[in-house]
Amino acid sequence: MDRALMTELLEERGEPSYRAAQIWEWMAAGASDYGQMSNLPASLRSELSERVPFSTLTVVDEAHSKDGTIKVLFTTSDGRPIEAVLMRYGDGRRSICVSSQSGCPLTCTFCATGTMKFARNLTTDEIIDQALHLRRIEAVDHCVFMGMGEPMMNFNSVLESCALLPDIGITNRHTAISTVGWVPGIKSLTETRSAVRLALSLHAPNDELRSQLMPVNDRYPIAEVLAACAAHSASVRRKVFVEYVMLDGVNDQPAQAEELAELLNPEIYKVKPIPYNPTGSYGGSDRETIQAFVDTLALNGLSATVRLTRGQDIAAACGQLAATKAAAADAEVPS
Ligand code: SAH
Repeated sequence: MDRALMTELLEERGEPSYRAAQIWEWMAAGASDYGQMSNLPASLRSELSERVPFSTLTVVDEAHSKDGTIKVLFTTSDGRPIEAVLMRYGDGRRSICVSSQSGCPLTCTFCATGTMKFARNLTTDEIIDQALHLRRIEAVDHCVFMGMGEPMMNFNSVLESCALLPDIGITNRHTAISTVGWVPGIKSLTETRSAVRLALSLHAPNDELRSQLMPVNDRYPIAEVLAACAAHSASVRRKVFVEYVMLDGVNDQPAQAEELAELLNPEIYKVKPIPYNPTGSYGGSDRETIQAFVDTLALNGLSATVRLTRGQDIAAACGQLAATKAAAADAEVPS
């Protein structure tokens, strides 16, 4: 919802100040139109329907996986593509994955979003509208900023969104911001003393390999990033998650697991190897290789849990749906 437009209309009508909170309460509880908001005057409901679009986003495509994952492709009002995903787990958890930017400026070589053109940061309204859309499907309780974009480059809107998520059912303790290691953002998060969880996309045990996979490593090399993460962990007294996408023959060898265990203090980090959803340039490590990697980490004192893959059949990896659509659209343009 465009909160500025909403406020303007409520002020213009001279509505009492509690109206905005009433509307937000309905939206956060999963209402799907103004008509349901039975404690608002009928004239207000109809004027809202005419003048304030229920969402700042338009749904372009929705893909349903056989494992229950739902991935939604939206466009913003200026036509920028973004994606969000609802993941359903056997233990009842309902986790949403949201985007913080349309496209991403950081060009990680294995990531589909990196191949798209960077458009812009999303507004708080656009981030929250992704969450609200998925909330309308069912009640949700976890959120990860692991959709398109680098959340730490859009810090204020991401944090403002985190402050609204509890109303939708997602506490800050159940929210995680995933970053490439954008050091100023990690430091800002530490300063806020927020309960939001920090996740670091590391993907390599040394600078040489990491710079090949993630050009941002030249700007913020591993030592600097880990120093910021260690300071964060000490300040909030919680572990930092380390994401490590498993690329066949690239970063998945036992010697690399040993190097990783050497690098990461188990008091500070918990490793989450991620099975790779192939998007073109790399292959994903097979199950046995991932298990061997995890076992080597454990032998070296570092515990790791493999993240369940979700929605592989619907291209649910970061940027995949939007990138596929963009490629299809490009293909339709006569050259
Ligand atoms: N820019 C942030 C958040 C977005 S990406 C970050 O990099 O952390 C969220 C996670 O998905 C990152 O760990 C990223 O490396 C991973 N990822 C990207 N493409 C993937 C793919 N094809 N398969 C599996 N994980 C992928």
